[in-house]
Amino acid sequence: MRVAVVGGGAVGLTAAYDLATRDADVTLFERGEYDPSSTPADGSSARAAGVLYDAYAEDVDAEIGGRALERFRELSGEDGFEFHGCPYVITVGEGDETAAEALGASVDRMRVHGRDVSVVDPAELGSRFPLRTDDLLAGAVADNAGWTDPASYVSAMAAKARRAGVAFEIGQSVSVRVDPPGVAVDDAVTKGFDAVLVATGAHTKQVFAEAGIAVPLKPYRVQALTGRSAYEGPMVYDATAGVYFRPHPTGVLAGDGTVPVEADPDEWKRDADDWFVDDIRTALGERAGYDLDVARAWAGLCVATPDGDPLLGELRSGVFVAAGWQGHGFMRAPATGEAIAAQIAGESAGITPFDPRRFSGDEAFEIREGMALD
Ligand SMILES: Cc1cc2nc3c(=O)[nH]c(=O)nc-3n(C[C@H](O)[C@H](O)[C@H](O)COP(=O)(O)OP(=O)(O)OC[C@H]3O[C@@H](n4cnc5c(N)ncnc54)[C@H](O)[C@@H]3O)c2cc1C
Repeated sequence: MRVAVVGGGAVGLTAAYDLATRDADVTLFERGEYDPSSTPADGSSARAAGVLYDAYAEDVDAEIGGRALERFRELSGEDGFEFHGCPYVITVGEGDETAAEALGASVDRMRVHGRDVSVVDPAELGSRFPLRTDDLLAGAVADNAGWTDPASYVSAMAAKARRAGVAFEIGQSVSVRVDPPGVAVDDAVTKGFDAVLVATGAHTKQVFAEAGIAVPLKPYRVQALTGRSAYEGPMVYDATAGVYFRPHPTGVLAGDGTVPVEADPDEWKRDADDWFVDDIRTALGERAGYDLDVARAWAGLCVATPDGDPLLGELRSGVFVAAGWQGHGFMRAPATGEAIAAQIAGESAGITPFDPRRFSGDEAFEIREGMALD
């Protein structure tokens, strides 16, 4: 089977590798000029924060999250990739009753799906972790969690894909053809393919629009920064502040700064906003007593869908899509890439709820912040 994978981010590379290990003849097209085994392309995977957990409330999400963590652990130590286990703490501040209720309900559902997550009394949270907790209404801890450098995952998957026989066409911005499935460079169709996987992140709506297909995806900006002083605590999502942070080799990495406005995937502000840096400074100071000295601050794009779930599956005969991760695409890539590879190879993949044909494509919807507890 000949498969074209378009997009060399975490998802496309994982799928390409998994297809090659199923004996498919795989060509990966990536528009960025880069060496995939050392420097990832400038897509979202190169800008992600690398927060990893399987604390999801819905069954298919919990399954995918758990499988992804299993694969991150298996890969750790290979090709320059390291998984760092670290608990993930969720906090809700005083007065935020709605979020506290949502957290309790979510944790119940996560536990039903076998996730290692518990509601923890704020005082106990304070005794376990170096965090301020006297102003908290509720908290939870997910123990099956960790962090990594996302670029190292991309490089490791590229190295594995290359060894598995994937052919790389780098520096090629391709367009997609439907009926029969194919890809074109400068309007000239390349060799024939039995299947095409479009994993082009923030460009996916544009790529399909050029092929005459509407998909309900909206790219939007989110932001992150690193700080220079040491941070020894857990990973934290402060739901009331809408901020997350984690240990990082330079000290700390923190983020969120969602701008819920549709962004142009080619023209958007790569630098972080001042208000975002100020918000992080306040949240880190209040929750962790951390004095922020910014090393680097940046923005990147995430992609929203009408229901917050991805488009993962066959959109037209032989044309597959993997996009719309709502800020959770990196941590799920080892499992979503694997699942779409299985589906393309004709195996059962367990991703029916993410069938992209559940939408007509012209749905109107608001961009929802990916990590919000409600
Ligand atoms: C600041 C920030 C922090 C984040 N933190 C996290 C986190 O902690 N955990 C998490 O799970 N997720 C996080 N995310 C989200 C995560 O980065 C994305 O969901 C994930 O990386 C998407 O991977 P992808 O492979 O689908 O897309 P991408 O990594 O964007 O890859 C798509 C690739 O397609 C290429 N491409 C586009 N168009 C074409 C074309 N026509 N032809 C050929 N190639 C093309 C692009 O160049 C790009 O390399 C974060 C995102 C940002 C911006």
